[in-house]
Amino acid sequence: MIDLHAHTTASDGSLTPAGLVALAGRLGLRAIAITDHDTVEGVAEGLAAGAAAGVEVVPGIELSVDYPHGEFHLLGYYLRYDEPAFRARLHWLQENRMNRNAVMVRRMNELGFAVTLEEIEAESGGGQVGRPHMARALLRKGYVASVQEAFDRYLADGRPLHVPKVKLLPGEAIRLVHEAGGLAVLAHPKYIEYGPEELAAEVGRLRSLGLDGLECYYSQHTEVETALYLQLAARYGLLITGGSDFHGVSKPEVPLGVVFRGAGAPDELLTRLRAAAGSR
Ligand code: AMP
Ligand code: ZN
Ligand code: FE
Ligand code: FE
Repeated sequence: MIDLHAHTTASDGSLTPAGLVALAGRLGLRAIAITDHDTVEGVAEGLAAGAAAGVEVVPGIELSVDYPHGEFHLLGYYLRYDEPAFRARLHWLQENRMNRNAVMVRRMNELGFAVTLEEIEAESGGGQVGRPHMARALLRKGYVASVQEAFDRYLADGRPLHVPKVKLLPGEAIRLVHEAGGLAVLAHPKYIEYGPEELAAEVGRLRSLGLDGLECYYSQHTEVETALYLQLAARYGLLITGGSDFHGVSKPEVPLGVVFRGAGAPDELLTRLRAAAGSR
């Protein structure tokens, strides 16, 4: 079995890339993809650990996309993750994120929370810093009783500490993945806030922008949703992927390798994905 959606300490996961690969090996997974939010900083370590452990590691990413209807995340697979133009664009996203973090810390201080950027960074395990780490810092300082309370009161969209993030548009994100030689896959379609008809039309539009696949199998999809997305993939000739969205202790209810009906995604999805990446 395989799991094509997992996060590491390079973004907001709790395991290092090597730790993630070791867990995948213990679980008997044949392959995993490392798909951190807006960064490929965990990929090289994961590939090295995978080669040593006999677990195939797919170099990936999960890009946040600017979109008015829910949460649009674009997965990229089989990236030439070292390509300079690709890295430069990700670097630009990281710089925007750091500026945003600085603004959010100033707002925290204005609201009377004595929290520093260093304290927030210390929550991140050395990777990219964002709202989950701010929530943990607020918790550690006793300003909230839980990470969820930090989001609900302060950090969620529309709450007093929230500052919007700079994001790529759908076509820009697809192009960025393609320019790095990768395949572009719409992550967890259930979080796009559209009914079935509108979603079908939107997937058709995304197909014309170059979308390659749909993450039909996902730990949070119901059977009915999975069936709908499989139909959409067939209708538009899209690849099918599957993943858990494993984050470790920051999302304890989602175990690695549990994607569909309590198990991983089938190996043949990766066979087709790899073949499509090879023929690009
Ligand atoms: P950022 O990239 O800094 O905006 O942080 C996004 C991350 O914050 C997401 O990946 C989630 O893990 C977390 N998050 C966003 N909104 C919420 C929420 N309402 N409740 C809990 N966690 C959230
Ligand atoms: Zn995440
Ligand atoms: Fe996501
Ligand atoms: Fe994810």
